Amino acid sequence: MQVNLTQAIHYLQQGEVVAIPTETVYGLAADVNNEAALNKIFAVKQRPANNPLIIHIASMHQVTDYAAEFPPLAKKLAETFWPGPLTLVLKSKPHVSAIVRADAPTVALRVPAHPLTLQLLTESGLALAAPSANRYTQLSPTLAAHVEASLGHDIPVLDGGACQVGIESTIVSVEGDHWQLLRHGMISAAQIVAIAGKPALVTTGEIPKAPGQHLLHYSPNTPTCLFQETEALMGYAKTHPDCAVLLIGDVSPSFVNGLKALTSHCVQLAQSPIKVAEQLYKVLHQLDELKAPAILILLPPSNPEWAAILDRLTRAGYRAPV
Ligand code: AMP
Ligand code: MG
Repeated sequence: MQVNLTQAIHYLQQGEVVAIPTETVYGLAADVNNEAALNKIFAVKQRPANNPLIIHIASMHQVTDYAAEFPPLAKKLAETFWPGPLTLVLKSKPHVSAIVRADAPTVALRVPAHPLTLQLLTESGLALAAPSANRYTQLSPTLAAHVEASLGHDIPVLDGGACQVGIESTIVSVEGDHWQLLRHGMISAAQIVAIAGKPALVTTGEIPKAPGQHLLHYSPNTPTCLFQETEALMGYAKTHPDCAVLLIGDVSPSFVNGLKALTSHCVQLAQSPIKVAEQLYKVLHQLDELKAPAILILLPPSNPEWAAILDRLTRAGYRAPV
């Protein structure tokens, strides 16, 4: 159900959930100070309670409403990247609902870079907890139509067009003057290093904790198989020509044409990682709708500029090949 800004504010102030546009993906938002509303997010998404929610705020001045500490390093990152696709995980103030934190001692905060949602945050005076507006583990929505397809027509949706970044935010935790990367995103680790002036903290033998980062995440309903080599993908496609194919990165035109002749649906995303991120979920939604026996994906090269896209695809492709 499409709503305008005034209606969206009204629903949120009444303790209802509303799907909102951000530059990353559409979020399913609720007032962070209303526990009944927060519970609705988990119920609608069928998301486990141990998976915490990112709090969206209108400006960095609100960080200390929720975070017990705002270290200079975190401030520097916020000044550089907000509004934008960076989530900061900081030590929480005690009053922040345990539901939004999933009982963690931390809060996750972000100022999103979408004009309509910034207006919504400012005019409503609310801070909004918002995970992606889709059912748990499914593909994230980058269009209002994706939200309705996943959550149904009863959910109010504020349509802000296609998401410009297209994949979820980079998540960085900051404690004192140390930082750790909890989730790859389109703000790269190298960009964080450049601002922080030092590499991420690596504690020997300990993997950084990112609650809720399940392997089976961001998945199409169609089984998805990942390939690193063109020959292996071609070999598989020859015996399974009814599969849909997604080629990411630069491959020779003759290879693409060969696959197009062989299979019924072959899409190539050959542009820069930024462009691919913007298109990725939309294309995966389209391929998923074909209901082919499988989606075969040729992965981009394993280098840092593709890290966020590889992270999402690796999770999408977790299922065993058909
Ligand atoms: P999303 O799935 O895009 O809503 O992002 C939620 C992710 O942000 C979670 O799966 C966690 O990895 C991270 N996150 C959110 N809140 C917290 C928190 N309070 N402490 C640590 N990580 C968090
Ligand atoms: Mg999600």
